[in-house]
Amino acid sequence: MANKGALSVDTEHLFPIIKKWLYSEKDIFIREVASNACDAITKHKRLISLGEAEDDGLNYRITFKIDKDERTITVSDNGIGMNLEEVEKYINNIALSGAVDFISKYESDNSSGIIGHFGLGFYSMFIVAEKVEMYTRSFKGGDGVHWICDSDGSFESEPCTRDSHGTEIIMHVSDDELAYLDNEKLKSILERYCSFMPYDIVLVDGENETVINDTNPLWQRNPQDVSDEDYNEFYKKVFNDINDPLFKVHIVADYPLNFKAVLFIPARKNAYDSTESEFKLFYNSVFVADNIKEACPDHLVNFKGVLDCPELPLNVSRSYLQNDAYVRKIASHISKKVADKLNGMFTTERDLLEKNWRDMKPYFEFACMRDEKFGDRVRDNILFEKADGGFITVKEYLGDKEEGDIYYTTDKNGQSYYLQLFKDKGVEVLVFDSVVENNFAQYLESKNDKIKFKRIDSGFDSVETDSSEKLVSLFKEVCGKEDMEIKFTSLGEDGAAALISLPEDGRRFADMMRMYNLANGNESFPMPNGENLTINTDNPIIKKLESDSIENASDVAKHIYLSAVLLSRTLTSEEAKEFIKLNNKLI
Ligand code: ADP
Repeated sequence: MANKGALSVDTEHLFPIIKKWLYSEKDIFIREVASNACDAITKHKRLISLGEAEDDGLNYRITFKIDKDERTITVSDNGIGMNLEEVEKYINNIALSGAVDFISKYESDNSSGIIGHFGLGFYSMFIVAEKVEMYTRSFKGGDGVHWICDSDGSFESEPCTRDSHGTEIIMHVSDDELAYLDNEKLKSILERYCSFMPYDIVLVDGENETVINDTNPLWQRNPQDVSDEDYNEFYKKVFNDINDPLFKVHIVADYPLNFKAVLFIPARKNAYDSTESEFKLFYNSVFVADNIKEACPDHLVNFKGVLDCPELPLNVSRSYLQNDAYVRKIASHISKKVADKLNGMFTTERDLLEKNWRDMKPYFEFACMRDEKFGDRVRDNILFEKADGGFITVKEYLGDKEEGDIYYTTDKNGQSYYLQLFKDKGVEVLVFDSVVENNFAQYLESKNDKIKFKRIDSGFDSVETDSSEKLVSLFKEVCGKEDMEIKFTSLGEDGAAALISLPEDGRRFADMMRMYNLANGNESFPMPNGENLTINTDNPIIKKLESDSIENASDVAKHIYLSAVLLSRTLTSEEAKEFIKLNNKLI
């Protein structure tokens, strides 16, 4: 051979270390060769556009082919290729120096984040290969180069003839890695790492050629050119879901940050389905890693997305991401864009927003509570469902007033009698159907002390009456609840004789305790105390009780009380028994 040499460092140690360290992610050698091939093609295209290379009309493509008999994996591209000088420079020297850096770092730092920044690309082939052969010819013409390198680091090269520019790399797979000589395995690795590379990646299996990738991934496109359908299809394919996402946002940042991202909120039956956030990191369309939570803001729980950032190194490690200020800036920019998108939809696509809002809102409510800045951005546009249909913000609820009470129900059916009272008065009632919402209401109150959320059974406008003393002692006696507050209101002749009310703060506390107990496996939490009774002074039976013109006053009063309880919650078994007894007796 014309040229011989040996890698000039202590190479006996080099390849075993590469193997050892990269062991957990062995498959990445495929990504490395494929992305080198893509780079070589991109360079060729670029030189053509600069007029420095001739456009020979070639169809750019990268092929992978396994030869089981020869025990080889061959990768070829029709990119710029290399002449002898370039092989010397880029492969023998530069590519090696990345590996050398790796070693020196390895020796001083034994942390798991080590795979970080090293340009191990080319030499990563030795993860599976005992020998690597390369045929390459530069677009500038001249002789091709046939280069061979053994796993002990010795290499040689000689001129060869090749028709066209480009590079062909033949990995001679070592005895203990023969599993890689399998088309299915290769295909799945290619799909994982190369699904969105910019030139056709072709798997050649005998006569069959399969194109692995989508060369124009959605995030690289101009958002204006991407349809809803495209986003949905992309989401379903990349995140293995059968449902369309609820919300999507496409972010193209070019300065001072440089990245592209598409985020989704998956459709879920239940916001508490514990699927985790999932973020896929790409580097110029080359897949780098799954589940890069570091780039997704913590408060965007359960979001899924892709992030393509050419500013982050291809061989990025988790510990690097955790500590990198740039990654934190990306996360905060993403947060801002998600807020912008929501606000934008609020103003221009309210119908669309309302369509999925019921499922989406827990994500946003949670995000507001978790992140101050996010909350400040979107709080005012969080919609609440109205009991009689449609959605409304707090601001819209209050109308011209800047302050006031906001009424809600947590159970439209169970609280239907109360709901009707509000309807009759023409007061809007919101529907809270998740625990997040209760917390969210509390959060809104903490941000604005002029508003107060009140459940519809939290109390009534009370009126003074002269006769109160008598009825107060009668009801206290029959209910056996000395501390029960008894008030009077006017609900019309046909209105219930009495209604239970639960003062808002006490009830919220009791709810919280109940949740806490439930979470701790203690289901039998007693009904919240603090039930008060409000008596309807317009009701004819109440009037009779007041004027002493009724027999069995105690039984009637107890019956009125239990009927009131029945409108507010389920009776305990004791109460139910008594209620039936009284019914039988009184009727
Ligand atoms: P990096 O890609 O990070 O520069 P590598 O070790 O992967 O490091 O590759 C070293 C160099 O070898 C590349 O920068 C490139 O100049 C050259 N090279 C590698 N593969 C090819 C190829 N298929 N065609 C042309 N040049 C290549």
